[in-house]
Amino acid sequence: MKTLIIFFITFSITMAQTSEISNLYEDYGNYYEKKITKRWFNQHELLYVLDAYNNSQFFRMEQIGKSFQGREIRSYTYGNGPVKILAWSQMHGDEPTATMAIADIMNFLVTNDKYNDFRRFLAERSTIIFIPMLNPDGARLFRRRNAQDIDINRDALRLQAPESRILKEIHRKIKPDFGFNLHDQSPNNTAGKTNRTTALAFLAPAYNSERQINTVRGNAMAVICSINEELQKYIPGHVARYDDEFEERAFGDNFSKWGTSTILIESGGWTGDEDKQYLRKLNFISLLKAFGVIAEGTFHNKDYQPYDEIPENKRLLFDLLLTKINTKFEKENYKIDIGINFERVPDTASGRIFFKGIIEDIGDLGKYYGHQELSCENCYLEPGRFLPEEIAGADEYFRLNYSEALQNGILFANVLDISGIPDYPEFPIVPVASGIGFIPEIRTGLPANFIITSNGKTRFVVINGFLFNPLMGDVNLKNNIFVTK
Ligand SMILES: [Zn+2]
Repeated sequence: MKTLIIFFITFSITMAQTSEISNLYEDYGNYYEKKITKRWFNQHELLYVLDAYNNSQFFRMEQIGKSFQGREIRSYTYGNGPVKILAWSQMHGDEPTATMAIADIMNFLVTNDKYNDFRRFLAERSTIIFIPMLNPDGARLFRRRNAQDIDINRDALRLQAPESRILKEIHRKIKPDFGFNLHDQSPNNTAGKTNRTTALAFLAPAYNSERQINTVRGNAMAVICSINEELQKYIPGHVARYDDEFEERAFGDNFSKWGTSTILIESGGWTGDEDKQYLRKLNFISLLKAFGVIAEGTFHNKDYQPYDEIPENKRLLFDLLLTKINTKFEKENYKIDIGINFERVPDTASGRIFFKGIIEDIGDLGKYYGHQELSCENCYLEPGRFLPEEIAGADEYFRLNYSEALQNGILFANVLDISGIPDYPEFPIVPVASGIGFIPEIRTGLPANFIITSNGKTRFVVINGFLFNPLMGDVNLKNNIFVTK
């Protein structure tokens, strides 16, 4: 009888927490950490958020070491349960989405509301250790690597970076049952051979080159299946399975090898979500769902076969794809597709990320898709033209009637004194320093500046990768053009 009652209680808690997770999608706004709203923030801004939890009854804060440049790295531990979960984010400095989600989850865990049963359940069953922003030196510059220019995620064996030693040491100390390795990937990845952006990609990393599946890896796969079931309700068809080739130097693969069921989450892209705020919410849902499943122990009996049915993570999207445009080279006429991608360039002076539109590929791109696509069947590709007269400097440059210029296919202006024009002028004419002999070319690896004509008229212009119809009035001044000096 006693056994039956315990069983019944356990069962009802399990049911309660599973249904609660679904409501969390609606209630997320209550936990969104409003002090961070953009994808580029430095450690200073993050610590301002985290400091609020230093003396919380729910968290134990620990300084677990310092980055190469001496920035403090902290862990925050929630709960006292037997199952140990370690979640670290931003070992790559320019991959901050999950760091924002961890801030939201910490906010959630200390709130007092209708989810208290779920919170208690997590605290009793599991111990969750968060390391938000493992690579603060890289984060400051919004770049992948640490201050030594080492990729921390290729340093799990040699441990030459202090950040790597911190992660290895915490693994040795707590021997986590589960590890969450939290990253960002390109927004141009697709879920399978489709035009659907991968919002989130998951991987249960291999522990050997044969990619065998033992209990440790199988458990990670089972948890991923549960997360995927939840996510399909909100983003059907936008979840992918990350390539499982064994990388002997990576932390995820070594965590698997060292006996921790490891789950890699890669935040990819979502249309119109440049600052990844929706992906941040999906991370919040995914992680809490996973913590719930782990605390419940339901992964033990779960079939992990559906893991293989999650579509593979592919790279089939360009930011802009122009198809079947007529072009000419050395008097030969032919048709090409052009794929253009934006590089995101951080500017430490302004703290902003600027776009740089680069021609990535030319030729038959029939198997690819574009976030933005334009069929150019009856159109011609031409290099942008120069303003006929040279202009004196910045004042004159910013006074140019760009609308009229663009309608005439003019994308470039020779500027006598270019010094007053910033590197990111946010003005849709490319300034060129007079006398440098710059000739516009349409080639892979070069900035995408050209015009699209038909019947001798300019139909569209592409400036720094941004596509405009110059007859449609104002161009979007968000575009940022690099001065050709
Ligand atoms: Zn990464």
